[in-house]
Amino acid sequence: MPQLHPRLEAIFDEVIHTNPGEAEFHQAVFEVFESLGPVVEKHPEYVDAEIIRRLCEPERQLIFRVPWVDDAGRVQVNRGFRVEFNSALGPYKGGLRFHPSVYLGIMKFLGFEQIFKNALTSLPIGGAKGGSDFDPKGRSEAEVMRFCQSFMTELYRHLGEYTDVPAGDIGVGSREIGYLFGQYKRITNRYESGVLTGKGYAYGGSLVRTEATGYGTVFFVNEILRSKGDDFAGKRVVVSGSGNVAIFAIEKVHQLGGKVVACSDSSGYIVDENGIDLELVKDIKLEKRGRIKDYVDTVKSAKYVAGGSIWDVQCDIALPCATQNEVDEADANSLIKSGAIIVAEGANMPCTPEAIRAFTQAGVVYAPGKAVNAGGVATSALEMQQNASRDSWSFEYTEARLSEIMKNIHETCVETADEYGLKDNIYSDGANIAGFNKVASAMLALGVI
Ligand code: NDP
Repeated sequence: MPQLHPRLEAIFDEVIHTNPGEAEFHQAVFEVFESLGPVVEKHPEYVDAEIIRRLCEPERQLIFRVPWVDDAGRVQVNRGFRVEFNSALGPYKGGLRFHPSVYLGIMKFLGFEQIFKNALTSLPIGGAKGGSDFDPKGRSEAEVMRFCQSFMTELYRHLGEYTDVPAGDIGVGSREIGYLFGQYKRITNRYESGVLTGKGYAYGGSLVRTEATGYGTVFFVNEILRSKGDDFAGKRVVVSGSGNVAIFAIEKVHQLGGKVVACSDSSGYIVDENGIDLELVKDIKLEKRGRIKDYVDTVKSAKYVAGGSIWDVQCDIALPCATQNEVDEADANSLIKSGAIIVAEGANMPCTPEAIRAFTQAGVVYAPGKAVNAGGVATSALEMQQNASRDSWSFEYTEARLSEIMKNIHETCVETADEYGLKDNIYSDGANIAGFNKVASAMLALGVI
């Protein structure tokens, strides 16, 4: 394990001690701290004012019971969470995740990452995350609706367009956001569009929000390529997952001239040497809510591998877009051996620390989720702007704004790494330092609160 700056070491020990058993949260904090040594040297006032210790402690953590009745008439009980981590830059903002693996440690890692990601967008949003251990898989429409209604019946009292504005994440798409917004509206008797983002277009959503995380991921990679005088034309790309982020990453790669040859779900992966037929994936995953293996029923020349690692598939560019810690050291070594030049995280923290070290040592460009996938939350902030002005922008205009934001985030990472004389891991260090500095200076200005 690499050494931290001594002043950060003590704070990290405290984080471990006060948050026992939350491995993902520890990992996310360590990754940021690894970059902050030069900042502590340059700005000792941040440590003196305990900005870093304060940053590691969420402003508010809500845990609540979500009771609901299934189709068989049985009472089910899930646990709901909202971690309102930091509001120095604006109202709490961050998605809701419905997945059986959800517990407080996952909520806190995601909320912590969100603080820096949101700062990088340059938009006025704080960091938060929430969700539940509810598993929507195999549940009927009516069950999902009843669950969402019960979840919102508790959460609504903590939300508001100036307080806390959730969006989607794993297991929470436009269907769930619709039910959540409906229940919020019913309970509060307020048509408060700005209280949730990722809404359907018919009731206050923004064009491009659905595509934003995947498109933004590819815009970011395009900037990396451009900085090397290269582009996507002819590049062989592997994208893990086949959910919201993965699907629209694949779409944008194809639009820019690259070829995605593999994608996955939690059961296995498919390889299609002719390039993934995205309309078919959309039909299977979005329309039919089926499994990725169904792809080979239609495309006979494609191959399905149950289990296994999608990172064994040779590629130039790897885009992990499924979940945390899905790329370990062995996967990283496979990617390095196969000649990958860029690994960019569409998902949050999909690469383990060992994988990141392997990429850095091998000279593979590694770009972290908090910079790469920030296009989703940035477009959520654009949705809030449209709601506030009761306006609705065109697809082209919104996509151009997204593209510009991703370009700026790329530039910020590069310039920040340059300012601090860092050369090895410019996207990771640049993103952590730039995001941190923005939040830290705001926290210092706001006093001890
Ligand atoms: P979706 O629920 O739409 O899709 C998730 C995909 O990842 C599915 O294909 C799913 O497969 C797969 N997956 C989920 N959990 C696991 C697991 N434990 N092991 C293997 N595969 C898994 O989620 P999103 O596309 O919205 O989110 C994907 C990632 O992107 C997450 O890390 C999320 O935090 C991040 N992100 C999302 C944003 C957004 O706007 N939606 C914004 C920024 C980041 P299966 O169907 O089999 O579960």
